[in-house]
Amino acid sequence: MRAGRHFLQIPGPTNVPDSVLRAMDHPTMDHRSAAFAALGKRALDGMKRIVRTTAGHVVIYPGSGTGAWEAALVNALSPGDAVLMVETGHFASLWKRIAEKLGLEPVMIQSNWRRGVDPQPLEETLRARPDVKAVCVVQNETSTGCATRIDEVRAAMDAAGSDALLMVDTISALASIEMRMDDWGVDVIVAGSQKGLMLPPGLSFNAVSPKALAAHAKATSIRAYWDWSDMLGPNAKGFFPYTPATNLLYGLVEAIDRLEAEGLDAVFARHDRHAEATRRAVRAWGLELWCEEPRHYSSSLTAVLMPEGHSADALRAVISDTFDMSLGAGLSKLADKVFRIGHLGDFNDLMLMGTLSGVEMGLALAGVPHQKGGADAAMAYLVETAPQKGGAKAAA
Ligand SMILES: *Cc1c(COP(=O)(O)O)cnc(C)c1O
Repeated sequence: MRAGRHFLQIPGPTNVPDSVLRAMDHPTMDHRSAAFAALGKRALDGMKRIVRTTAGHVVIYPGSGTGAWEAALVNALSPGDAVLMVETGHFASLWKRIAEKLGLEPVMIQSNWRRGVDPQPLEETLRARPDVKAVCVVQNETSTGCATRIDEVRAAMDAAGSDALLMVDTISALASIEMRMDDWGVDVIVAGSQKGLMLPPGLSFNAVSPKALAAHAKATSIRAYWDWSDMLGPNAKGFFPYTPATNLLYGLVEAIDRLEAEGLDAVFARHDRHAEATRRAVRAWGLELWCEEPRHYSSSLTAVLMPEGHSADALRAVISDTFDMSLGAGLSKLADKVFRIGHLGDFNDLMLMGTLSGVEMGLALAGVPHQKGGADAAMAYLVETAPQKGGAKAAA
């Protein structure tokens, strides 16, 4: 028995707001009823606004983000197609493995895991490989805390004269970091429910541009469960071809209402501010940010490098045992070397201060060399930038 709330500060699944929990607390419904169609329509239309598309379609699956990765590839591509990927971290590597299993031919650009995608080598590779049918990038590498500028990826593709599809994994970016699907010419979006969208795991999404839909009509990869064509017909009236995750959809429309009540731009600004406060804490502790390129700092999470000879997993265990807080582990080649602080989703200033205080106390208890004052540095920044009623900043 542990009193008080658990601090779930991993970069997904994230904390689910009480109103979203309440919205899902509903008797199971008839998914062929008119009442369901109204819910389905609200969910599909709402997701179009969240990804900022008017031209595209949204498809919602009962499934994890990994399913939506597969759906993107099998719906728009054919076996043997070359797909360009950039190895920005663990998640980009996993998406590549799926492409290989599906009989696609990934062309992987090696990349520094401490940065997002560099548009230069991407452009050069596209010039050398005009056969590339899709460029697949991860907008926010959840394993490294480095985010890629999708507008720059689009510009590099245009500069190379590429007519490949642009596929973007937004699983830990959507509703935390800006996405402008139509403006940036994104053809397929891959998303999941359990990160910025503030829902439990269990839903995943594709958003599909008209160009991707045209490619879909000709693509010959085998697909059944994930087939966009089977979805789009019933979706037009708010229905689904198979049983949808009805209670999660109640939660989704409530989560979308919350995001729109706050305003998407305000949501992004909130994430930027919490990320900056976190980085100030890390620097004050004398620890190193894993992301080394300020233009690629993630607003969803911060990965922190442990001092040489100290275990990130041991630190996380002390923090979990003593303060009941979960932090993200280092993944694959970053295992035990970094810990990750999730600051995305349903999150506010005092939750951030609780989180950073827990880290600072944990560093002391685990005997990790550091300076005190990280939480203080974050607090000072939060005061300096506190949004005031009416939108004014705190007086100097
Ligand atoms: C979490 C995550 C995934 C995997 O999603 P699952 O829901 O665990 O299948 C893929 N890509 C990124 C960037 C993620 O953050």
